[in-house]
Amino acid sequence: MYKITVIPGDGIGPEVMEAALYVLEASNLEFDYINAKAGNECFKRTGTTIPDGTISTAKNTDATLFGAVTTVPGQKSGIITLRRALDLYVNLRPVKSYEGTQCLFDDVDFVIVRENTEGLYSGVEEYTEDGATALRVITRKASERICRFAFEYATKTQRRKVTAVHKANVLKKTDGIFKETFYKVAENYPNIKLEDFYVDATAMYLITRPQDFDVVVTTNLFGDILSDEGAGLVGGLGLIPSANIGEKNGLFEPVHGSAPDIAGKGIANPSAMILSTCMMLNYLEEYEEAQKLENAMVTVLREGMVVTPDLGGSASTMEMAREVKKKLKES
Ligand code: ATP
Ligand code: MG
Repeated sequence: MYKITVIPGDGIGPEVMEAALYVLEASNLEFDYINAKAGNECFKRTGTTIPDGTISTAKNTDATLFGAVTTVPGQKSGIITLRRALDLYVNLRPVKSYEGTQCLFDDVDFVIVRENTEGLYSGVEEYTEDGATALRVITRKASERICRFAFEYATKTQRRKVTAVHKANVLKKTDGIFKETFYKVAENYPNIKLEDFYVDATAMYLITRPQDFDVVVTTNLFGDILSDEGAGLVGGLGLIPSANIGEKNGLFEPVHGSAPDIAGKGIANPSAMILSTCMMLNYLEEYEEAQKLENAMVTVLREGMVVTPDLGGSASTMEMAREVKKKLKES
C-alpha cells in the first residue's frame, strides 16, 4: 500500500487528477490517497497558496501527484515553494513521440534531466548602477548529484548514452566545473556512452537529429529551454508529463498549467496527468505496472477514437480516461 499525496489544484488540475486516479483504480497496486490543498482557490480560502500542512504531508508520503495551480502575479508560487521545501533537485522530462499525435518525428525517445536548484535561476539578482546582474551559481555538489542521477537513471532504464549540455567555451568557470564533474561521475559508469555538446549546437541537433539523444543532463536554464523545445518536437501540451525528484521525495505533474480557458468544460486532455502517474509508478519501482499503464495510454492515442478535442477528437476528459482504464484492464 503506497501513501500518495494528491494536490489537484486549480482550473483543469482537479479534472485531470480525477481522470488519472480513476485510471489507476485498474492497476494491481493499492494506494492510500491523502488530499492536500495548494494554489489560488486555496489562497482565497486560507490566505496562503501552500499551507504548511500540504508541505509536511508531501514530505511524509511515498510520492506526490500534482495537478496544476493558477499563480496570480504577486502571490508566491505554491509549486515553487513545494519544490524548494522538498529539495526536488531533478526535473525530469521525457520527450517521446506517440503514434496518433502530432509529432515532428515519429521515432523520438529521450529524457532531459535538468538541475532544478541553482544555475541562473539561483534567485540572486540585483540592480546595478545602470542595469542589473543575475548570478549563475554552479556548485560541485549540485553538479555531482544531478550527473549521478542521470547515470543512475540511464542504468535503471537501460539507456545507453548520457549527453552533457553546457557552454563551457564561454562560461569557462561555471560550466567548466559542470563538465569536469560530469566526466568524473561518468568514471563510475563504464558501460554508458558519453558525449558533451554546447547548448546552442544541442538546440539545433534536437531538430536535425533528435533520434540520437538518449539521456540529456544539463543545468537549470538550459534545461528549461531545451525541455520546452523537446515538448515542441512531440507536440501538444496536453501530452507531456514531468517528474521532480529529490533524495527523499518525488512529485509528478503535467507540464501544462491550469488552463483557465477550458476549465470546467470537461474537455481537458488527461494524458499528461496519466503519463505523470506512470512516471510515479516508475519512481516507486513498479516498472511492470508503469509499462502496462503506458501501453494502455499509447493504444488509446494510436487508435485515436476516444480522444479529447486538442487531439482532434470529441471525447470528454472522463470518456478518454474510461477508454484508457478499459485497455489497462484488458492487458
Ligand atoms: P497557467 O497560468 O495555469 O499556466 P495558462 O493559461 O498558461 O495557465 P496552460 O495550462 O499553460 O494555460 O495552457 C496553455 C494552452 O494550452 C491553453 O490554451 C490551454 O487550453 C491548452 N491546454 C493546456 N493543457 C491542456 C490539456 N490538458 N488539454 C487540452 N488543452 C490544454
Ligand atoms: Mg502556462
